[in-house]
Amino acid sequence: MSENLKKIEKCCLSFKKNEDMALHCSFKCGGRARFFCVPKNLSCFVKVLRYAALEGLKVFVLGKGSNTLFKKFNGIVISTQNLNKIKVKKNLVYAQCGVEFSKLSQLCLKSSLTGFEFATGIPASIGGGIYNNAGAYGKELCDVVKKVKVFDGKKCFWLDKEDMGFGYRNSIIQKKQLFVLSAILCLKNGDKVKIKNEMFDILQKRRDKQPLNYPSAGSVFKRQGEIIPAKVIDNLGLKGFNINDAQISQKHAGFIVNKKNAKVYDIEKLIKLIQQKVFEKEGIILETEIEIIGE
Ligand SMILES: Cc1cc2nc3c(=O)[nH]c(=O)nc-3n(C[C@H](O)[C@H](O)[C@H](O)COP(=O)(O)OP(=O)(O)OC[C@H]3O[C@@H](n4cnc5c(N)ncnc54)[C@H](O)[C@@H]3O)c2cc1C
Repeated sequence: MSENLKKIEKCCLSFKKNEDMALHCSFKCGGRARFFCVPKNLSCFVKVLRYAALEGLKVFVLGKGSNTLFKKFNGIVISTQNLNKIKVKKNLVYAQCGVEFSKLSQLCLKSSLTGFEFATGIPASIGGGIYNNAGAYGKELCDVVKKVKVFDGKKCFWLDKEDMGFGYRNSIIQKKQLFVLSAILCLKNGDKVKIKNEMFDILQKRRDKQPLNYPSAGSVFKRQGEIIPAKVIDNLGLKGFNINDAQISQKHAGFIVNKKNAKVYDIEKLIKLIQQKVFEKEGIILETEIEIIGE
């Protein structure tokens, strides 16, 4: 093993070769990554990013893997699962990039802080959520973000919300290839019972409309203004259409679900088929929200 890889291993709780990425993605399928590691803490995360660059490795930072589909990845996947410190000070919440939305929701409820209810049930990490400006029910993460600490490959620094380039499922993290280290969210003092009820209602809506009993990565395609992909796909009668175990959900046409043993290849083929049919019949080019990584 090279010196850089040995240094990476030292910074990590676990360091594996040829890792099965199905274990780390909400679709529960995927190819293998050449290296997979879990940095011990934030300073180790930055060191790993530096050593990986010195080694000339392709890097993929993985949050909860709820928007990602892996083919064979000839690089290093760096999981943020152990970067999960979280602190509340009055109405401000400091969260490291690996903090799960569910943990943050529970903390907001416990602290009677309102503003994050919309995110209930999104299976994201803070890093992935900021990268995508995750949103639901008319709100987005950028509505509550105050500052984000990033690493640009050379140095670490804070960016104010105004400098984050937030847009629909977009942020400067994508455009400038930055790494999210942590964030400060600004919430409001609220009523615990109201917060709890709102969270419950949102979870109920998700259960009613989304196929949560099968692995998926949420909505496959991005909305385009008034165009809602799920409606377009449904109108074409494609609900339930499948390629092997990859199926356009019967419950929500915007989701592709893994019925049992779907392969990345099946999901990718199904995505292309939907795009082709929607273009042929409606002249709309559907853009994917989920990311397909590797070759
Ligand atoms: C059942 C279900 C429901 C969903 N509902 C919604 C919804 O309502 N709204 C919504 O917006 N999304 C939804 N999603 C999609 C998904 O949860 C979001 O896109 C989420 O933001 C992805 O977060 P993640 O941590 O899983 O990111 P990952 O899939 O791990 O990564 C996504 C991207 O973020 C990057 N990234 C992750 N961490 C960092 C970091 N620290 N620094 C830099 N880049 C990083 C990754 O490299 C990758 O490019 C849903 C998914 C599922 C499975």
